[in-house]
Amino acid sequence: MEFLTALGINSTNTGTSTGSTWIQTKGENIHSISPVDGKLIGSVTATDKEGYEAVMAAASKAFAEWRTWPAPRRGEVVRQIGEALRAKKSDLGQLVSYEMGKSLQEGLGEVQEMIDICDFAVGLSRQLHGLTMHSERPGHRMYEQYHPLGIVGIISAFNFPVAVWSWNTMLAWVCGDLCVWKPSEKVPLCSIACQNIINEVFEKNGVPEGVSCIVNGGRELGEWLSHDSRIPLISATGSTRMGKAVGAAVGARLGRSILELGGNNAIIISKDAELDMSLIGAVFGAVGTAGQRCTSTRRLIIHESVYDAFKAKLVKAYGQLKIGDPLDQNNHVGPLIDKDAVNQYLSSIEKCKAEGGVFAVEGGVLEGDGYESGCYVKPCIAEVQNHFSIVQHETFAPILYLIKYSNIDEAIAYQNGVPQGLSSAIMTLSLREAEQFLSSAGSDCGIANVNIGTSGAEIGGAFGGEKETGGGRESGSDAWKAYMRRQTNTINYSTKLPLAQGIKFDL
Ligand code: NAD
Repeated sequence: MEFLTALGINSTNTGTSTGSTWIQTKGENIHSISPVDGKLIGSVTATDKEGYEAVMAAASKAFAEWRTWPAPRRGEVVRQIGEALRAKKSDLGQLVSYEMGKSLQEGLGEVQEMIDICDFAVGLSRQLHGLTMHSERPGHRMYEQYHPLGIVGIISAFNFPVAVWSWNTMLAWVCGDLCVWKPSEKVPLCSIACQNIINEVFEKNGVPEGVSCIVNGGRELGEWLSHDSRIPLISATGSTRMGKAVGAAVGARLGRSILELGGNNAIIISKDAELDMSLIGAVFGAVGTAGQRCTSTRRLIIHESVYDAFKAKLVKAYGQLKIGDPLDQNNHVGPLIDKDAVNQYLSSIEKCKAEGGVFAVEGGVLEGDGYESGCYVKPCIAEVQNHFSIVQHETFAPILYLIKYSNIDEAIAYQNGVPQGLSSAIMTLSLREAEQFLSSAGSDCGIANVNIGTSGAEIGGAFGGEKETGGGRESGSDAWKAYMRRQTNTINYSTKLPLAQGIKFDL
């Protein structure tokens, strides 16, 4: 496989790095098995305590220098990373697709997202602005400025093996921070490839060792990071279970966290919806990445007057889906990440049936030629009630739930009636319904769309969600502020020292 060689991936790889230095550790081997064909792609040595300490020492040391680089100079490094990613887009897209199992188009799209956030961060590096205020005291000036925080610990999930890291790092780097990345143990090779790409650019620009670090391992490594008071900010992406543990550990030491956790995203299909357009949004949202996006469409809340017609369209569309090797561009749906995920999918189907769900399209595991990895499943559709406990829960697989409604208030109540609050959408040509959905009494999610589906965000907006999704925001808009510390400055250029609030203090 040429893309592995092009990305510097070997059959055995060191999983701990401070940049150009790869640290040998005595950790166990993490084997990366492709869900596409069940074959071993390569192994990565996990980070042990000694390796972790070496990384933390290098990152702490690098901060003294990196924070003094002018932000536009750091931005220039990020611009070159964008160029390096453009050159490696095809190779890295193929690795993402082969190691994680998403379609090649989505793998390439993920690398494009990395390039986009580089471009965004380059512009940002000439801004990072605070406000100025008028002081109540004569001869005084007030303003605020933003300074780098230090080390940012990044814990990422398997389903976006490279993009989530770049959303965090590109902003953190222009802000003057250092990054220590712990990727998901299910996709460790993507982290090695990213570090190799970064290293060439960093070396050319004399970036200090320790600005881009990786540590590899499972939950334990994530726990080391979350408990480590040398790390002022932890950005963690993954399940709500993980986010509760990380949030508690970081909170206990009064650190900061950005939590990007599970979703349970719905599209409302109104009686005034354009049904053919809605179909594309719903099907891509439900089966894209085999239902393993945090923004995947899990629920369709459909008006009773169009319910049967829309269900018939869905059933027909599901009948045309091609499931198989995601690197073959003729296929729509690839595999789940591993057999554990397949078992969770099967058990959710059973639970749904036990609660009274009726399947309009049946699920099941595929067997035979091309399905040897055991990770390919059929996308399925169940008619349910919103209150079923299985519907309230995020199953990370292509199971789509249909819920019928009769008026818009009821639809919005269903949409909001789950513990998660990431992405939401309404398909309608009614201005009144659209505005109600977007109003303060409408969707309670971090993302609310009109006439597009729930998945596929652009990097320009802040990304994240409410409630059990964790409340964090990453990527565009002013998400960069989370990566810096704010300082308020008051300067007295008068010859007196008047106190605020007119307080008198004479000596
Ligand atoms: P996961 O929670 O199993 O693992 C995510 C990461 O957390 C991994 O690196 C893992 O090693 C680490 N981890 C696990 N337990 C930990 C602990 N107690 N302390 C510290 N680190 C710990 O999630 P996953 O299966 O890799 O990914 C799927 C989940 O991620 C879904 O719930 C999905 O919705 C969510 N997700 C959310 C977003 C978002 O932006 N909101 C984006 C992608 C994925």
